[in-house]
Amino acid sequence: MKICQLCGKAIELESRARKYCSQECRKRVKYEKDRAWAKANSDKVTAYARKWYEDNRELMQQQGRDNYRMKCLAKMKGEG
Ligand SMILES: [Zn+2]
Repeated sequence: MKICQLCGKAIELESRARKYCSQECRKRVKYEKDRAWAKANSDKVTAYARKWYEDNRELMQQQGRDNYRMKCLAKMKGEG
């Protein structure tokens, strides 16, 4: 019988899962992996985030304007 490598639960025989018993365990492992990777590569992550922001600066600003506009609209509607 196979056993989940994360929680230790038995994996059902008919299940196609290999290492983990459930989607939750797989997600959890992926999350932990991603987090460990991000921690080990924090300079890369920071650089990537900065580059993404630079590349999407206009989009972000546009979004900010749209949000502001929506807020104003909601306020106007609310007041009258
Ligand atoms: Zn599990």
